[in-house]
Amino acid sequence: MFSVAREFSFSYGHRLFRYEGRCRRLHGHNARVVVEVRGEDDALDELGMALDFTNLKETLGRWIDETLDHRVFLARNDPLAKVLRDAGEEPLLFDGNPTAELLAKTIYDHAVMIGLRVIKVDFWETRNCRATYTRHDAGRGVTAEVQD
Ligand SMILES: [Zn+2]
Repeated sequence: MFSVAREFSFSYGHRLFRYEGRCRRLHGHNARVVVEVRGEDDALDELGMALDFTNLKETLGRWIDETLDHRVFLARNDPLAKVLRDAGEEPLLFDGNPTAELLAKTIYDHAVMIGLRVIKVDFWETRNCRATYTRHDAGRGVTAEVQD
């Protein structure tokens, strides 16, 4: 099969609620994300492409820009969420701490939801630290998953 990957980057703030280390403090990252996607029918199209890179930019890339970039991510039960909302901010809330692992899964799940046959998401929180999310049915897309 063929796959293509595209890199995205965005900035965010977060903190890890009830964590003992220094990531308990509100701080920020410049994330680098690489999303690998399987081609539509395991063959190249008439233009020789498995999937047009532009497609990834205009679908998943736009969602990352509009939804994730320059936002604060918090656990839903973090009391800071209310403080920020009261101050006019719109923190993005997660069921659990917004770690690199959960952010990789969030991007993966959204890619599946918009119809991409995503294979894996690599999420670099810093230059040295990466989390990867994939699944046993990776690359099959949402349709195949529903049929299971
Ligand atoms: Zn952090």
